[in-house]
Amino acid sequence: MDKTFRIALLPGDGIGPEVMKEAVKLLRVVEPRLDGVRFELEEFSVGAGEYLRSGDPLPAATLERLRQFDAILLGAMGLPAVRWPSGTEIAPQLDLREQLDLYAGHRPVRLYHAHDTPLKRYEAGQIDFVIVRESTEGLFWSRKGSFAPDAAEVTDTMRISRAASERLFRYAFRLARTRRRRLALVDKANVLPSMAFFRKVFDEVAREFPDVETERIYVDAASLYLVQRPHSFDVIVTENIFGDILSDLAAALVGGMGMAPSGDIGDRHAVFQPAHGSAPDIAGQGKANPTAMLLSVAMMLEWLAQPETVRGARIIYDSVERCFRDPAHRTPDLGGRLSTSELGDLIAEEAARAA
Ligand code: ATP
Repeated sequence: MDKTFRIALLPGDGIGPEVMKEAVKLLRVVEPRLDGVRFELEEFSVGAGEYLRSGDPLPAATLERLRQFDAILLGAMGLPAVRWPSGTEIAPQLDLREQLDLYAGHRPVRLYHAHDTPLKRYEAGQIDFVIVRESTEGLFWSRKGSFAPDAAEVTDTMRISRAASERLFRYAFRLARTRRRRLALVDKANVLPSMAFFRKVFDEVAREFPDVETERIYVDAASLYLVQRPHSFDVIVTENIFGDILSDLAAALVGGMGMAPSGDIGDRHAVFQPAHGSAPDIAGQGKANPTAMLLSVAMMLEWLAQPETVRGARIIYDSVERCFRDPAHRTPDLGGRLSTSELGDLIAEEAARAA
């Protein structure tokens, strides 16, 4: 029986629409190769551009519509010059995480070719881990606050709740079970009470998963180990802002932001998007690397969890890997000369060769 998946497209701002175009192109190449699977795509305007148009970057009616889709693909959102009166950037991707309760930020880090890592001696596949970032609380909990112009001090609160931590850890343990069964908790339990609590809850949840090997690392040491021994990591689970920072560091190990896909996963909804921002410095120039977006499409297909969509994901992962074997197949961020659509075409051509 045919299954139609309804996918909402949120191209957003800056390079978002440029990489989204490649995502749609690839999805339309993969679709006819999947038995009985169809994708119905519908685009919505969300982001800094929508704020300039309507005064609301994520209109309530749009949010309600988005809840009805099987999955959401997002390009990138926010522009430095478009801000709330408080001075903070318009970031509806963060609102979406909170509104749709997308608590697990799933960020795979995989090296597709030895050329693309600044580290020595790493071949394709030898860096391969996932950062699971808590996405609904942590230090970002304070992001909606503000301060008076004459303020002499400002305090942000790191909120860690048992409920959010337990579900995050269970997600990470279950993920580790599908991989190499190793999970590293990254925290700052030696300094902050909220982090000591985070670790305590982790230890409790760990008892439910005795088959998964665990380690506990302070975030400063984790930054060191990620550079010294990235091959030793399988799944890393951490607090919101630590995950924000470490995932950029981790992206640098495999070629930068253009190679870093992500999924914001909840129990009912999920949003898939490149981990990078709207990159206004290169927007509109055809320079953006679309790979992070294309790998995010693969993550979405995996998450849809039908045998045929999972096969579609495999087609995309293999296409990226085959395409990247040729060192000339690179956008400028990786030292190449291809445009966004030229690299997108090459990856789509690889996918078109799949059975
Ligand atoms: P955010 O705060 O939304 O994460 P940001 O301002 O920290 O965004 P990005 O927009 O991710 O940062 O950009 C960081 C750097 O990486 C910029 O120099 C940008 O040009 C580069 N970059 C980001 N995405 C890509 C991409 N897909 N291809 C090439 N370069 C990219």
